[in-house]
Amino acid sequence: MQFIKKFSPQLVVESPGRINLIGEHTDYNLGYVLPTAIKKKITLKFAKNGSDSKCEVYSYDLKRGVSFDLDNFTKSDVGWENYIFGVIHEISKKSDKLKGFNCTIESYMPTGSGISSSAALECGFAYGLNELFNLGLNNREIVELTHHSEHNYVGTKCGIMDQFASVMSKEGHVILLDCRSLEHTYIPMTIAPYKLVLLNTNVSHNLVTSEYNTRSEECEQGVAIIKTEFPEVVSLRDVTETMLQACKPLMDAVIYKRCEYVLEENNRVLEAVEALKENDLRRLGQLMYKTHKGLRYDYEVSCVELDFLVDFSKQFDAVLGARVMGGGFGGCTINLVHEDTVDTFIEEASAAYFKEFNIKLTAFEALPSEGTSIIYP
Ligand code: ADP
Ligand code: MG
Repeated sequence: MQFIKKFSPQLVVESPGRINLIGEHTDYNLGYVLPTAIKKKITLKFAKNGSDSKCEVYSYDLKRGVSFDLDNFTKSDVGWENYIFGVIHEISKKSDKLKGFNCTIESYMPTGSGISSSAALECGFAYGLNELFNLGLNNREIVELTHHSEHNYVGTKCGIMDQFASVMSKEGHVILLDCRSLEHTYIPMTIAPYKLVLLNTNVSHNLVTSEYNTRSEECEQGVAIIKTEFPEVVSLRDVTETMLQACKPLMDAVIYKRCEYVLEENNRVLEAVEALKENDLRRLGQLMYKTHKGLRYDYEVSCVELDFLVDFSKQFDAVLGARVMGGGFGGCTINLVHEDTVDTFIEEASAAYFKEFNIKLTAFEALPSEGTSIIYP
């Protein structure tokens, strides 16, 4: 079928991917995270097409489109279509103002690499429809509905961080987000002469979604056990170290390790915020290394390629910290690197990585950026 790719857009939206400085796998445990949007984006163009309910969405990156009727669609067997349908489904619960439209998607960011192209897509799509049809949703509602959409339609039991960061970020800042209350504070990201460098392993070990959901279930199992002693506990966020130790004998060793990691990681986020405020980048870097260790041995979401890059970074005095970022099992490491050494570090890491795995690394600097925005009109 021919899709309408060229039309005069009435609206153009840019929606960013995100990094997370620290606080990994804490969001769905209602803990703390420290993300920001970055200057790697998806552009979405929209126009009403005059019909009541016929829609077309075309992805230039996949070279595939989908046409559907707003009044009659179901979950798709084609993965990416559910990001679209999920958003429409959630919007329809809140508004009946949607009408027929065309939309094209062009991505300038890698997918499946831990910088959340999925949230960029969902948030940009919801943000655009909100604007195009004057739905009157605020940013917070867009964050929540896109989060539900990824849960219910796509089936990733993700936390709210990715969508929150994609929509709510402010240029030059990271967000200290409390995923329990959604209270958030913007912290200036002043790290000069250091930079944040992402190294993309360009591997994705297909485990991401299944293992991600397994981790979420393991944490729930931990909570269920802790609840038997401390009924007031709702999530791992409510659990103190004393409570966890009291329940350790009741727990399988694996469940204990997962819980312990999450408790420690929540504390590391708060410590990292102190370090940022005091401009103590050495301490920040050490915390990043500790997170990686936790993710590697206790939460077990790393892989040989990621471990290789993090270990490799330790030879450089100019690299203060490094860790896997995102769900794990591939994707990117995030590195805190002195600006004078960025090029050398990337060059040497690429050569060593290629020698070890015969895979090309891609690297880029992550610049804290504004959240989802309208760029036309
Ligand atoms: P990440 O969010 O880390 O990039 P995910 O696996 O969560 O990885 O999301 C990637 C998925 O999002 C893709 O497999 C695809 O289904 C969808 N997606 C991302 N970008 C696009 C795009 N430009 N066009 C269509 N689908 C996209
Ligand atoms: Mg994603």
